[in-house]
Amino acid sequence: MAAHNAPAAVQEPRRSFSLNPLFRKGILLATHNRVITRVVRRYGLRLGGSRFVAGETLDAAIPVLRSLDEQGLATNTTLLGEGVRDVAEAASVVGAYTHLLDRISDEGLRTNVALKLTHLGLDIDEDLALTNVGQLVSHAAERGNFIRIDMEESARVEPTLRIYRQLREAGHDNVGTVLQSALYRTADDLEALLQLAPNLRLVKGAYLEPDSVAFPKKADVDRNYIRLAERMLSGPGYTAIATHDERIINHVIEYAARHGIGRDRFEFQMLYGIRSRYQIELAQRGYKVLVATPYGSDWYFYLMRRLAERPANVLFLLRGVLRKR
Ligand SMILES: Cc1cc2nc3c(=O)[nH]c(=O)nc-3n(C[C@H](O)[C@H](O)[C@H](O)COP(=O)(O)OP(=O)(O)OC[C@H]3O[C@@H](n4cnc5c(N)ncnc54)[C@H](O)[C@@H]3O)c2cc1C
Repeated sequence: MAAHNAPAAVQEPRRSFSLNPLFRKGILLATHNRVITRVVRRYGLRLGGSRFVAGETLDAAIPVLRSLDEQGLATNTTLLGEGVRDVAEAASVVGAYTHLLDRISDEGLRTNVALKLTHLGLDIDEDLALTNVGQLVSHAAERGNFIRIDMEESARVEPTLRIYRQLREAGHDNVGTVLQSALYRTADDLEALLQLAPNLRLVKGAYLEPDSVAFPKKADVDRNYIRLAERMLSGPGYTAIATHDERIINHVIEYAARHGIGRDRFEFQMLYGIRSRYQIELAQRGYKVLVATPYGSDWYFYLMRRLAERPANVLFLLRGVLRKR
């Protein structure tokens, strides 16, 4: 395993309320609480959650994707959902994504697709997930589109990377995946993937992980992010820097300029509803910025992960719930 020491150029990150690990842990644990689930499912979207989701249907999401495009932002979209445990349901998700790829093409949108393997049946059977995602990647290629496989909890990293590798070895080039700087294993995973000249999105990691697999301190997650970003940018392939962390984004801009890494070799990615003005500002400075813009009625887990990232989002939602009563 790679040593965990910090790159010289990076300063110690500032501490802020939003980095409170206890808060984050509390919200992520509460995700499975029945009362919380009932309240958030009932009020969440109407009282602020819609800020993070483009709509409950594809028809509602299309104008949002078009409007982002008109503002100079690239987009991806995701049909929200995960943890499918029924083969027929996984098949219907494949059908929905096939329709989505056709619709993107018919609408002439600059939108690609990001999906979760547990939405396609990974928790039922790895081969089923491989077949399902393979079918979608082939369909996307016919439509000139690209599919990114999101990264889920640490227990799913191994099968996800195995499936990504199998797709690439079968000759699919229009597919990418995600690595999380929170995990100790990621530096080694990256080294192993570089031989494929991969298209990788780098994130900090949105899941609650035990200290045995992930850095417990946010400062270490951030430091590892910088180290991994530098390695990705100097290696073969394409890098998507997915973060709202301005300090990291500035570091990447400076690093790329210093090492002659062209703007066609990387992009920035942020989430719909988070730092929207900054997204446009970066795009106006000539960087490619992609806004991840999900839709669908199964938004609960996605919203809870966004709330866990920032206490202010929870307060905003709670104020709305109290006003409603
Ligand atoms: C495009 C994209 C794709 C992603 N895909 C995955 C994935 O496949 N797997 C995965 O595990 N994780 C994924 N994530 C989530 C990621 O792991 C982090 O949980 C998330 O990006 C928050 O961390 P940060 O990098 O923005 O840094 P942080 O240090 O958490 O935040 C930096 C600053 O950004 C702002 N900010 C961050 N989050 C929020 C929020 N929710 N609301 C308002 N402001 C906020 C705040 O100003 C904060 O101070 C993805 C994130 C992005 C942007």
